[in-house]
Amino acid sequence: KERTLAIIKPDGLFGNHSDRIKQVILDSHFNIAKETVVQLDEESAATFYAEHSSKSFFASLINYMTSGPVLVMVLEKENAVADWRHLIGPTDAREAKITDPQSIRAMCGLDLQKNCVHGSDSNKSAEREIAFFFKETSSD
Ligand code: ATP
Repeated sequence: KERTLAIIKPDGLFGNHSDRIKQVILDSHFNIAKETVVQLDEESAATFYAEHSSKSFFASLINYMTSGPVLVMVLEKENAVADWRHLIGPTDAREAKITDPQSIRAMCGLDLQKNCVHGSDSNKSAEREIAFFFKETSSD
């Protein structure tokens, strides 16, 4: 089965949205293969989001992602990467509330930055991100 990495971001945990999000995950027939709660430090958050290091919002993103613990999960199902991206909705939670009101970001997110959840954008990213949090090699 395909795997993807899901993160419930600090606003999701602070807002007590985890149980509701996990219920949506299970109702959507994902298996939660692994999960862990971590407090990212600046260095690890910057490494995770390295692709955005030149963006104007990078410092703010790192500040947000280190503002509290995150819940990291490996989700498994056929077509997991695309299906999870579909379920979370557009990056901007305000847009999600209009165009995709059933999405997780519409339910739990606030705006373009505080959007409650993360999902890997490709199989390649998924394997990199899973290895980042769970110290595997991609051949596992
Ligand atoms: P993620 O990678 O977290 O699943 P995404 O792929 O929908 O989200 P990206 O463009 O990869 O979005 O941006 C990564 C994260 O950076 C976003 O989820 C959001 O928290 C934050 N972000 C993106 N764009 C902006 C912006 N213009 N201003 C502030 N924060 C932003």
